[in-house]
Amino acid sequence: EAKNSGRNRYAFFESQMNRSMQLKRMVEDDLRHAIDNDQLTLHYQPQVSVDGSTIVGVEALVRWQHPAHGMIPPSDFIAIAEERGLIVPLSEWVLRRACTEARRWKGIRLAVNVSPIQFRHKDFVANVIRTIAETDFDPAQLELELTEGVLIEDADAAEAAMMDIRAHGVGLALDDFGTGYSSLIYLRRFAFDKIKIDRTFLEYMESTGESAILVHSMAHLGRALGLRVCAEGVETAEQHRFLQAIGCHELQGFLFSKAVPATEIDRLLGLDNPFAEILAAA
Ligand code: C2E
Ligand code: MG
Ligand code: MG
Ligand code: MG
Repeated sequence: EAKNSGRNRYAFFESQMNRSMQLKRMVEDDLRHAIDNDQLTLHYQPQVSVDGSTIVGVEALVRWQHPAHGMIPPSDFIAIAEERGLIVPLSEWVLRRACTEARRWKGIRLAVNVSPIQFRHKDFVANVIRTIAETDFDPAQLELELTEGVLIEDADAAEAAMMDIRAHGVGLALDDFGTGYSSLIYLRRFAFDKIKIDRTFLEYMESTGESAILVHSMAHLGRALGLRVCAEGVETAEQHRFLQAIGCHELQGFLFSKAVPATEIDRLLGLDNPFAEILAAA
């Protein structure tokens, strides 16, 4: 009977819901534990001068080495951390660890990702400044990567926080540029130092294709506004040549290096021309 099957269906959905809630709860518990017990680790991806000769910065990218489920990528747990109120402790862990590890890399920038929820927290700027001070990190060496999502909800508050951050000497990059909602006016209004052209634009790029035209336009726009232009997701020599020709300043991608442990950054920084072989082969 209809009423009965309705009730059964309800029971079915309820049990499914319980299962996914349990799953989420488990991840939440594990993540809290992971933050407290150093199961998280940071890898660093080099940001390279456009000629490929020099590492000018590194981006800290968090990884979770789960004892039972193996390596969990940030795309799988950042959203849960945001949902379950863990993004602030997670982000504080990331910034503290990144500043502590990167202190020994003189003369290069450290880029750290900021989640929109973390950014909107009322103590965000104070927390960042405190962590920089406590780790004795040079604020001019730090660059925070924001996504367009931080700008849309409360533009006035975002603008104020950004001015505050910059007043402390910390740089700001607009990450995943071109994928969000923001109009070009945002780029003028908000005080970014740098845009990072999202790697989806490079993914299927041929130098004559539509993506190439978009990338060219974004690079041109960034330069015209006096911003540094970084291209993410550079995988091929052909992309490299194109990005160099259109006047990008910095490159990041698997062509040069994936994100690697801090000790590998030590090694790369010790080399004279760390990517010479890669460029010669290309
Ligand atoms: P993102 O900030 O845009 O970081 C770039 C992502 O692209 C990284 O993935 C990087 O490994 C990947 N990537 C770089 N070069 C290439 C390439 O040539 N080809 C391809 N296919 N991929 C490339 P990852 O480490 O998995 O991070 C994914 C996203 O997770 C990041 O995107 C960022 O939004 C977020 N994330 C990572 N670490 C943190 C963190 O500490 N805090 C916050 N809030 N978010 C983080
Ligand atoms: Mg980033
Ligand atoms: Mg990005
Ligand atoms: Mg991305």
